[in-house]
Amino acid sequence: MALTAKKKGFFGRLSQRIGDVLLMRGKVDEAMLDELEEVIITSDIGMDTTMKIMDRLRERIRYDRIEDPEKVKEVLTEIIASLMDKGERCALSEEYPLIIMMIGINGGGKTTTIAKLGHRLREQGKTVMFAAADTFRAAASEQLEIWGNRIGINTVRHQEGADPSAVLFDAVQSAKAKHIDVLICDTAGRLQNKKNLMNELEKMNKVIDREYPEAARETLLILDATNGKNAISQTKEFNEVAPLTGVVITKMDGTAKGGIAVTVADQFDMPIKFIGVGETIDDLEAFDAKAFADSIFE
Ligand code: GDP
Repeated sequence: MALTAKKKGFFGRLSQRIGDVLLMRGKVDEAMLDELEEVIITSDIGMDTTMKIMDRLRERIRYDRIEDPEKVKEVLTEIIASLMDKGERCALSEEYPLIIMMIGINGGGKTTTIAKLGHRLREQGKTVMFAAADTFRAAASEQLEIWGNRIGINTVRHQEGADPSAVLFDAVQSAKAKHIDVLICDTAGRLQNKKNLMNELEKMNKVIDREYPEAARETLLILDATNGKNAISQTKEFNEVAPLTGVVITKMDGTAKGGIAVTVADQFDMPIKFIGVGETIDDLEAFDAKAFADSIFE
């Protein structure tokens, strides 16, 4: 996977800091490992995952008798990649018809990601439809429809405050009638009212069970990388509300440190399916654990 300039910029800092430690210390010893540990923790990688990385690194250094700092870099990359690599689960389902529920808190990039993903699937020759089932936030449906119009994807929407399940019901009927490959459904991002959201999502899932049982399903959580470690509690909470099949991490191009990708993948055994690297329609990349880990040290 070709890495964008934006992503290189983002990883540059962590890479440089790790590079500095390796260069300054010159030799592989406890002092160097302690410093590496500190750099990794401050990159938004949580404590438990950092400890796991360091334990594995120490073990490899001992076992392989590693003395070359360059080799430490290589092993560290391998360890980080292996924590994020969930194999086939990192890819979006290729069974059709497919219904993708998109969940996540407001402002995280849900609407933009729906548009980017719809566009990406269209480019791959799939027919796509949007269901504007975030009827709670003013203007959410309209924003999605504007994106849809811009990229030539139909949006099923009702008026503000309508029942999200009714929107989904209509969207499912329309998608069935038109033999749409992928229906992407927006949802309300109000985690503060967890019980309501849980009921709402359960009701929506029942609509699919009843109306379109043959459809394959994905439930993707949108996580904003600039929220740092909040992403961990969000993953936990949303996974309880609706079992996730994966996450999309947005705003990886910004000032975010991005270590949350490693933590979320590791702590929840959660596949990362895509990363958002900008505000335009093409700024969505399929996640590749090896390329992601490699880019830390570019
Ligand atoms: P929603 O409330 O979750 O639907 O969020 P939106 O899709 O409206 O996005 C909120 C803001 O984040 C908008 O200004 C988007 O342009 C921006 N945004 C979304 N994804 C990305 C990304 O990957 N990178 C950057 N830099 N901005 C993004």
